[in-house]
Amino acid sequence: MSLNPQRTIAELKELRKLTEDANGAQRVAWTDIWLRAREWFVSKLGDLPVERHLDAAGNHWVTLAGESPRALLLGGHLDSVPNGGWLDGCLGVMASLEILRRFAAQYNNRPPITIRLVDFADEEGARFGRSLLGSSAFGGTASIEADRKRADKDGILLEDALRLCGVEIDDFPKATVEQRNAAAYLELHIEQGPVLESKGLTLGVVTGTKGVERHAITFQGQEAHSGSTPMNARRDALAAAAKLALEIRPIARKHPDAVCTMGSLKTFPGIVTAVVGRCETTLDQRDLNAAVLAEMYQAARAASERYAAEEGCAVEWSRIWNIEPIPFHPNLIDLCGQAVRETTGTSLRLPSGPLHDAAEVARAGIPTVMMFVQSLRGISHNKIEDTREEHLEAAIAALDRLASKTVEWIEQK
Ligand SMILES: [Zn+2]
Repeated sequence: MSLNPQRTIAELKELRKLTEDANGAQRVAWTDIWLRAREWFVSKLGDLPVERHLDAAGNHWVTLAGESPRALLLGGHLDSVPNGGWLDGCLGVMASLEILRRFAAQYNNRPPITIRLVDFADEEGARFGRSLLGSSAFGGTASIEADRKRADKDGILLEDALRLCGVEIDDFPKATVEQRNAAAYLELHIEQGPVLESKGLTLGVVTGTKGVERHAITFQGQEAHSGSTPMNARRDALAAAAKLALEIRPIARKHPDAVCTMGSLKTFPGIVTAVVGRCETTLDQRDLNAAVLAEMYQAARAASERYAAEEGCAVEWSRIWNIEPIPFHPNLIDLCGQAVRETTGTSLRLPSGPLHDAAEVARAGIPTVMMFVQSLRGISHNKIEDTREEHLEAAIAALDRLASKTVEWIEQK
């Protein structure tokens, strides 16, 4: 009734002004600027008849009670990476607020079901290297022992930084109480990639977040003098690694949405006069389909062994981290497709390569879907991150339609 996407854009600009410097947004979680952003957000609630609190993991909940305690959850994250953009995460939070306002206005402050907005704490993991910190606590998958002793670049421990913000890491499991009555979760986010722009589309329906296999791969050959070692007598660890770096491209290209990246490479001894004796690399592989992910992992592993043998080297793999693909809810994907089509005329389904808080919510068994809005140049985590204002307006309007459809869906269940 009173949806005003222009207001959301104006608020996002206000937040930008409040929390950026010459290098971009600085709303890093557990810092003063992030706390200031959250205070600013509270000021935007005005006289809405809502209850609000921080849960045990520092996630901020704003609840508009409805006729039924069953709740539609809407959210995002106000935190950013250092030198970040003005939309990543906060678009979801501020669009959710606009929709909450619309429900309050339309139903005289008492919607048919409860509407809850969540600003998840520390989605980015920018300071301590642990992404999805708050949402994993909400979802019940927090890794407290592994995380408490994480330190930032100044040596400050994660558990101490949280304590300064009033959050005790040992209390994280209590955040799962927020799952009570949660009937669905919707999240609007910028795409952060080039797909929608390349297809000339405004919005996309996210089918899920890709699973990730992340490994350290070390090739071991023989360090030797670059002048005295004939070419046919070398056991060059870099040569084996380089062959693998090229091979992961055809391995990924066999599947339409798969990606494989060798993002780091270190050579030892790493001097101009020595054949590389040891080469340490990393491999990151992603796909929405668990079978495809497993197949790509096996293919890369077999290729590494083949190239190691060709170069007279040994190869060792060790897993750094992995997560399974997390598909979103089929009914909500359909509803999101309808909302996007009604708003823009077309609808494209695409998986998300980056992880999002929505993945943790879905993993907790709460029906979930995300909507993407086009990112200009596909760039984010950068001060040049941007989206056309007419696209932002369309995104907020489409999320609003989706919210109404989801409320109906929850009522019928
Ligand atoms: Zn984000």
